[in-house]
Amino acid sequence: MLKLEHIDKNYAEHHALKDINVTFNPQETTVIVGPSGSGKSTLLRSLNLLEHPDSGKYTIDDRTIDLSEPVTTDTLLWVRRKTGMVFQQPRMFDHLTIMGNMIEAPVHVLKQSKTDATKHAHELLSAVGLDDMANRYPYQLSGGQTQRVAIARAMAMAPDYLLLDEPTSALDPELEAQVLRVLNNLAQENQSMIIVTHNMDFARHAADRMLFLEDGEIDFDGTPDEFFNKPTARIHRFLNAFK
Ligand code: ATP
Ligand code: MG
Repeated sequence: MLKLEHIDKNYAEHHALKDINVTFNPQETTVIVGPSGSGKSTLLRSLNLLEHPDSGKYTIDDRTIDLSEPVTTDTLLWVRRKTGMVFQQPRMFDHLTIMGNMIEAPVHVLKQSKTDATKHAHELLSAVGLDDMANRYPYQLSGGQTQRVAIARAMAMAPDYLLLDEPTSALDPELEAQVLRVLNNLAQENQSMIIVTHNMDFARHAADRMLFLEDGEIDFDGTPDEFFNKPTARIHRFLNAFK
């Protein structure tokens, strides 16, 4: 269980998150949507403490962190191990092969043997359809392939929660479909995921739960069925923009 209580985040002039209270259940796919600037990335980044909220409580498993106080490096590492982040434009180590990128953190952070990490990496690359790319270098991959490697790489750390911030919005539709297939498979395997996306078809089919953010607040928290089939007036307007 990953729980945020009374989370507030201010940037200079802007109140980006306002008293957010939300619990993410294991094995669920939660899709976060909302207008630009509503605080989606800030919320997601708060979930692995890439962003430090000003106040509130953060609970993962049975460990609660009071965010009004500084977080120790030890706590931060623990949170990062529990939560894996995939960005819109993933960064790779350019001088390492795809396999090198895959095993870097498992070997250096999790202290896995190179042999074990490599074996697991092959399995994960196969799962995203890219095992034949293991010996290539990042510059030799397409955007969609890079994103699939980024997902496999995040999974190599076996995160309890996989967090993805617009993982497909830099991709053209065909490549987007490849990445969404990978995410659909992970959802089927009950990997806990929290995804910010503008892809409403994906949300409709893959989400167990939808959150709609507006102006730093959670305006809707419910099932995709309610969200798409019985939308509030505000959500109706939001959805119309995608037609
Ligand atoms: P988008 O859909 O465009 O990615 P978002 O919902 O992810 O938007 P956030 O990136 O979370 O929105 O930003 C929420 C608000 O906080 C915006 O008004 C943004 O301008 C502001 N903001 C975000 N990061 C910073 C920052 N580092 N400094 C100042 N303001 C920021
Ligand atoms: Mg964003």
